[in-house]
Amino acid sequence: MPFSQRPIVILGAGIIGCATARQLLLNGFRVVVVAEFLPGDQNIFYASAWAGATWHAAGGISPEYRYLQAVTHRHLLRMAQEDPESGVCLVDAREYLEEAPSENSSLWGKTVVSNFRELESGEYPQNFHCGWSYQTLVTDPTRHMPYLRKQITALGGQFIRKRVESLRELYAMFPESSVFINASGLGSKTLTDVRDDKCFPERGQNVFYRTDKCRQMYFRNGKEYTYIIPRPLSEGVVLGGVKQQNNLSPEVDMDVVRDEIARAHRLAPEVVPTNPPEESLSYIIGIRPSRQGGFRLDSEQLGQQTILSAYGFGGGGYAFSYGVAEWLVKTVEKSERENVIL
Ligand SMILES: Cc1cc2nc3c(=O)[nH]c(=O)nc-3n(C[C@H](O)[C@H](O)[C@H](O)COP(=O)(O)OP(=O)(O)OC[C@H]3O[C@@H](n4cnc5c(N)ncnc54)[C@H](O)[C@@H]3O)c2cc1C
Repeated sequence: MPFSQRPIVILGAGIIGCATARQLLLNGFRVVVVAEFLPGDQNIFYASAWAGATWHAAGGISPEYRYLQAVTHRHLLRMAQEDPESGVCLVDAREYLEEAPSENSSLWGKTVVSNFRELESGEYPQNFHCGWSYQTLVTDPTRHMPYLRKQITALGGQFIRKRVESLRELYAMFPESSVFINASGLGSKTLTDVRDDKCFPERGQNVFYRTDKCRQMYFRNGKEYTYIIPRPLSEGVVLGGVKQQNNLSPEVDMDVVRDEIARAHRLAPEVVPTNPPEESLSYIIGIRPSRQGGFRLDSEQLGQQTILSAYGFGGGGYAFSYGVAEWLVKTVEKSERENVIL
């Protein structure tokens, strides 16, 4: 079977698997996505259903990884401008820094976002060292994941709901395929032929506060992990956050709720009151697929098969998604070339 007709098999239908499926299909490849959870599902282990999800430049990453984020920004911006169904919106952001930015800080993001400027003193709360304002992108996962499912299906991609115990099981399901993409998130900890011990679950719990003041992001840059992510299309803001290792509880922890509201109020009292009415609040719980040392993105050759790994994105899967997808498309094309040019 010629390379172009062999389906590329993706394990995982989170933002990484689905963004990749879409980009491969747009480039003419055949694609099958196999996953236990599919867009629209609401299991806490399906991280992509629960993300904030904002595009925020990550600090402490390599130039190559910065570029993955820049590519993601390019794709998301296009969706925000041209496709409201995507659930992606352009919003104003204010980032307050506890300390002066270090050499490897998130400041590089100013080369990607629009309207970046340093705030004048008096424009940011006194207890911070400095502040930035810029425009950024927020993705509402309750809209974006179903949007991707629809797009993938319309482009001829296929979803198969199935839990597999190993990648070998997947190879046996698709003997004609030669490229397999492991985008299984936390699944890579338990797949018997991956067993990546660096993967670990990191629980997040956010508050969704329904309010019409939902067009401005606030981000606290420093030791305290606090953000307010607007969701204009759902008329509310997401207040966070926490990162809890070794906690897989699906129950709402009301101490965390109170603490997040208090922190969000301190960050932006103009948006979050001290005691928001209970009926305006709901809660979001999801387990991030984190990995010690950062995510894995690489290609391996196993006999005739090419295995691409893209997992362990922790709290940044949306911010890296389309850049990672493009990297994977290029790598699949390299494999195609090797099959065509003998
Ligand atoms: C509260 C919260 C806030 C967040 N905020 C942001 C944010 O603001 N910005 C941002 O960029 N990111 C954010 N994130 C992180 C983001 O949600 C994740 O990084 C991203 O969703 C990971 O996507 P993924 O596709 O790798 O994994 P997942 O979405 O977890 O998908 C994994 C897929 O693999 C499948 N799978 C796994 N194992 C198997 C198996 N054995 N057999 C079959 N299928 C399998 C699953 O069923 C699923 O389809 C947040 C996360 C949380 C929880």
